[in-house]
Amino acid sequence: MGNQEELALSIQKEMIQFNLKRMRTVAWILMYISAIITIIHYGEVFFVKTERAMVPAYIAIHTILFYLDLAVLLFVKEKKLKVTSLNLRKYETILLAYIYTILLLISVITVMDVYFFKHTALYEVLFLLICTVFAIPFLKIFWIMLITVSPILISAYLSVGISGESIKIFLPMSLIIPIGLMIQRHTYKVQSKITKQHILLQEEMKKSNNLSKLLAEKNNELSEQVLRDTLTNLPNRRAFNNKLTQIGQQLSKPTSLSVMMIDIDFFKNLNDYYGHLQGDEALIKVAALLDEIAEKYNAFAARWGGEEFVIVSQHAAKFSEHVCEEILEEVRNLNIRHERSEVADIVTVSIGMCHAKISNSEQLKICCELADQALYTAKQNGRNNFYCKSGNFDEDVCLPF
Ligand code: GH3
Ligand code: MG
Ligand code: MG
Repeated sequence: MGNQEELALSIQKEMIQFNLKRMRTVAWILMYISAIITIIHYGEVFFVKTERAMVPAYIAIHTILFYLDLAVLLFVKEKKLKVTSLNLRKYETILLAYIYTILLLISVITVMDVYFFKHTALYEVLFLLICTVFAIPFLKIFWIMLITVSPILISAYLSVGISGESIKIFLPMSLIIPIGLMIQRHTYKVQSKITKQHILLQEEMKKSNNLSKLLAEKNNELSEQVLRDTLTNLPNRRAFNNKLTQIGQQLSKPTSLSVMMIDIDFFKNLNDYYGHLQGDEALIKVAALLDEIAEKYNAFAARWGGEEFVIVSQHAAKFSEHVCEEILEEVRNLNIRHERSEVADIVTVSIGMCHAKISNSEQLKICCELADQALYTAKQNGRNNFYCKSGNFDEDVCLPF
């Protein structure tokens, strides 16, 4: 379905929805009026005992009008009124049938008024009002008016002919058509304009909502990218700093924490001998391994920079030592050739670890520095091993022992 057709259908739906609501309002008003008039005429028949021949017919038509409106109020429930493409035709038929029927009944009443009782008043006004409250297309209302107003005019003519007296009846009668049509047309135009703007606004809002969603997704992607190292896809230094801040903020009591600095041994030699691309491959493999181990122990791994990585975990010292051993072994198991390493013919790493009970973010930073120092010691001790330092922050001083 084209955009234009979709818009036309949406407008049609909204207009019918609008008219159905109006239909209920009209039904309420007509139901009360017809009830009151029926009671008055019954009163006339039973108490005043008037001899009007047309009174029973008059009462009958009002009773029909009453039950018709009651039926509308009972069956067309306002809360359930939801016009869709499927029930659109059904509701349109109900609506037009209702308008035709009540106008026809009112015309008959008016004809009686004019022809038998020689007066017109309330129903003319009602007629005009009913014609004007519904926003239905011009052509449809034109036919409704023609079919219903013509008998009134004809009966008025038959009843009083064209005389000075009849002008009093004819004039307001004849004015119903142009006035009704004009107001009707205006109602329809205003309503369709409002509806169109409403629908277009809804579409715009939908579009802008979709755009906002897309933007939010892209933003998320972008902030993810900003925190990721492009080569290894590990969290980068910035992400690691964020993690430290987050841990620092969550510290409410002294917490056991280990920071491991992991550095590839003689990596410069590997680059020089095998080339940078091979160097990159080795970095990617080591990074993936560290990420896997960190995930296994519920720890956080990041690329610290160059060929250095960092893992932070909240485990006891003994457990962290076990993790260090596992890392050393698993890196060796990767079996990446390294002819120019001075410790083995495969890639190995050295690890510096600091374990401490920390209670604030300052101590966390110191813990990272101590891990770096420990890494230096591990290198000096011959590489392919780990060295552990403990931070004692009990008295707010850092004393490695
Ligand atoms: P050590 O055993 O003492 O750690 O010696 P090393 O050669 O590993 O240490 P050094 O700091 O001298 O050299 C690190 C090298 O890592 C130098 C640099 O070219 C290389 N490097 C840093 N980032 C990357 C990278 O993203 N890709 C590649 N291929 N090499 C990198
Ligand atoms: Mg190195
Ligand atoms: Mg290094």
